[in-house]
Amino acid sequence: MLRSCWWGARTTATSTKPDSAAVEQGLGFLHADGRDDQFLVHAGVEELVSALGEGLPEAGANLADVLDEVRERITRYSVAQSHPGYLAFPDSGNAVAALAGAVLAPMLNQNLIAVDRSAPAATFVTVQVLKWLRELGYRSLPLDELRGVRDVAGLPTSGGHMSNHIAMLAALGTAFPEARAKGLQALPTRPVVVMAGPIAHYSHSDAAFHLGLGWDSVVTVPARPGFTTDPAAVERVLADPPEGTTPFMVVGVAGNCRTTGLDDLAALAEVCARHGVWFHADACHGGSLIFDPEQRSRCLAGIERADSVSLDPHKGLFSPYPSSYVVFRDRGRLVQFSRHNDAVLADGCRDLGLVTPFVGSNAFQALPTWMLLKNVGTRRLGEIVAARTELVRLLSRMLADSGLFVQLNDVDFYRLAFVFCPPVARAAIRELPADNRVTAVATIGAYTSRLNETRYRAGRVCFDEHTLRDLGDRVRLGPESGQLVGNFLLVER
Ligand SMILES: *Cc1c(COP(=O)(O)O)cnc(C)c1O
Repeated sequence: MLRSCWWGARTTATSTKPDSAAVEQGLGFLHADGRDDQFLVHAGVEELVSALGEGLPEAGANLADVLDEVRERITRYSVAQSHPGYLAFPDSGNAVAALAGAVLAPMLNQNLIAVDRSAPAATFVTVQVLKWLRELGYRSLPLDELRGVRDVAGLPTSGGHMSNHIAMLAALGTAFPEARAKGLQALPTRPVVVMAGPIAHYSHSDAAFHLGLGWDSVVTVPARPGFTTDPAAVERVLADPPEGTTPFMVVGVAGNCRTTGLDDLAALAEVCARHGVWFHADACHGGSLIFDPEQRSRCLAGIERADSVSLDPHKGLFSPYPSSYVVFRDRGRLVQFSRHNDAVLADGCRDLGLVTPFVGSNAFQALPTWMLLKNVGTRRLGEIVAARTELVRLLSRMLADSGLFVQLNDVDFYRLAFVFCPPVARAAIRELPADNRVTAVATIGAYTSRLNETRYRAGRVCFDEHTLRDLGDRVRLGPESGQLVGNFLLVER
């Protein structure tokens, strides 16, 4: 039933040791050997389920045979995010140094819970990487000046989701230290988070739920037409919060997940400083810009004033999953996560497990980032990050020249939202009575989606697809007439 492997016999496990064969199989996938220029061999759900569903293996098979099966049944149907036609997310994960780190780390199998007997060198590699990333604007101490974990001002995490959870937990604990022992129910007020609703990433409302605050503790404000948070609207909520609530955190985004619109971080930091509220900058996407001096100063001005920042190398920095970090402006923020106050405050206490919320044993997640930075260097990384933005601009011009699409945002850096809306449709929209607008939105969405789906199934071009409100009214149906299904282009090279 399964077709034969598209990159042929390159990784026949019989001719190579099985462990190297696994690496070769992975490299064959990355280099698209024999893949006929497709990012995907598409299989429907039924085909996948019948190919992969089977009983619990009682007798083991030899590893070479298992690897052959992996190639035929799993690798073959995997999405190649590093393929030039894969434009859905920036997550190419194809920096060789980062990949090498991701292969090596589990073989070293260090446990970042403690230094002695667990992760002697890995602890300091992790702290070094955090220091490098904190140079995005924070004052960063060299390793030999750190007194212990109380001076470590960030953590690697399992993804932006977790980074945002930890930032919220830190902000909550800073504003309401008594909640650590007594819980939220003992507070005389309801703590709330403030952010722009239309561009919010769901990780923040997830965090509010998971931390016991509840979804309703996210107070939303409108976004501006360029898909950014409106600092004046945030200021109004902070000055006059809903009754019975106390805002303890404002979330700004350096690259929202839909259009990578960039908030005015300096303005938001100013508003937060005026009201004494924690400012978190979600730079899961925009964090990659720290290495390009031009984009860093144009796009991230003010980020150094944020109390916390999350950034995802597995998005913009060509690293495989998972790779994310949360960093803090002030040292000492992590101490609150430990029950052992004296231990974490002591000089020479270097066990990261004492200050790591949500996890005990912890993988050596910083090695891929360390190897990436050592191998590529910040100068070259900056050039690649800048070149990527130029590529998106080129695509934006190509879409405009075709005349067939309407773009919903201007390129901030690497996401571009557009819908299929040829001239004949635009002419029809101009004649449309107001009560037909919702239907028009649905029709545009359906055509855009159909175009996207055929390209995806052919394995040739992959765009992201989700709904977006046309805040800038580019389609001229009115920003409130409904959510458009659009294709959100990302170019990752
Ligand atoms: C992707 C994203 C996240 C979540 O990151 P994961 O790494 O997918 O967990 C959070 N915030 C924003 C703005 C994002 O784009």
